[in-house]
Amino acid sequence: MIRSYTDYSLRKHNTFGTNAITRYYFEFTEAEDLKGYLETTNEWRNREILILGEGSNLLFINDFQGLIINPNIPGIKITYEDRNNIWLEVGAGVKWDDLVEYSVFNCWGGIENLSLIPGKVGAAAVQNIGAYGMEIQNQIESVTGFDLETQTEYTLEASECLYAYRDSIFKNQMKDRFIITSVVFKLDKFPEFILNYGDLKAETEKLGAVNLRNIRKTVISFRESKLPDPKVMGNAGSFFKNPIIETSVAEQLITVYSNMPHYPAPEGYTKLAAGWLIEQCGWKGFRRGDAGVHDKQALVLVNYGNATGKEIFNLSEEIKKSVHDKFGMELEREVNVIG
Ligand SMILES: Cc1cc2nc3c(=O)[nH]c(=O)nc-3n(C[C@H](O)[C@H](O)[C@H](O)COP(=O)(O)OP(=O)(O)OC[C@H]3O[C@@H](n4cnc5c(N)ncnc54)[C@H](O)[C@@H]3O)c2cc1C
Repeated sequence: MIRSYTDYSLRKHNTFGTNAITRYYFEFTEAEDLKGYLETTNEWRNREILILGEGSNLLFINDFQGLIINPNIPGIKITYEDRNNIWLEVGAGVKWDDLVEYSVFNCWGGIENLSLIPGKVGAAAVQNIGAYGMEIQNQIESVTGFDLETQTEYTLEASECLYAYRDSIFKNQMKDRFIITSVVFKLDKFPEFILNYGDLKAETEKLGAVNLRNIRKTVISFRESKLPDPKVMGNAGSFFKNPIIETSVAEQLITVYSNMPHYPAPEGYTKLAAGWLIEQCGWKGFRRGDAGVHDKQALVLVNYGNATGKEIFNLSEEIKKSVHDKFGMELEREVNVIG
């Protein structure tokens, strides 16, 4: 199925719920449709291109003058299995949490801690989504897509995707150029659970057996209690990444702020909690017009109703500046600002 529009509203295509108009919009459900479209139209030539999933990590601050391509490809297919593992090829348009639910239902582990993260499978492979001690890069085998620059379809092995914390080749060299159409995941039939994050172990144990189903239940209840539901209050999850700084610098900060949360990171570095830094600057629960900072989690910026993308963006810049002024540290955005 193909959907192709001109001057199309993106309000229902971004979880902040802000309005923006795109000049061109193309959505397809089969990889072949994309090739046909590129061969028969000129809309994509010499124009800015944005590849769209569910819009749960985007903030539109202006109308978009280019072409939005939405590879809404369905399908979960078992491609191989052995005694210990199973390989699934999943369409870029599958809802991420539908894949988690399906895997947990079948007792295949490796992604259960990533329950309820909004978005589509294609974007999950772009973002290297992570939560509760798990990152998707560890289960990705390969990523297939269409390269607009070379006009060819090819597959990248996980090692070629240059995964790092919330980062990948698709956010850098391949950004807006490589349209992911499917992802192959390798899941475990006898998974080792990752339960060392916060209260995950203790709360799962309260449900009885520690198994995939109960871990998923616990993660869902954590998320529902801490994060606003975008259907009720517009947001895009964490607006900033947690800063990873040199351990020597972190140690200096800890001498001043002894209660500052800090976590292990690659050798020589320490990860800090961006939400805590923002809270220390007094932003938690702040509201100006309909743009605000969530009252339970300062890392989440929200749209109370009719905030514009620009209002949310301006607030984020003020937050960034105040964290810099207080802690001497530059927060990096996790959300993609478009426009
Ligand atoms: C309430 C809430 C909680 C969240 N919690 C988490 C969390 O715990 N952990 C976490 O990691 N994230 C979290 N997020 C952020 C978000 O859910 C993820 O980043 C998600 O992967 C984005 O998916 P999407 O389909 O909405 O992508 P979009 O927002 O549509 O796009 C994100 C980026 O990926 C690119 N892209 C999308 N699809 C493709 C494709 N097929 N091919 C190439 N490029 C593509 C886009 O161009 C854009 O750069 C949360 C968001 C919300 C709203």
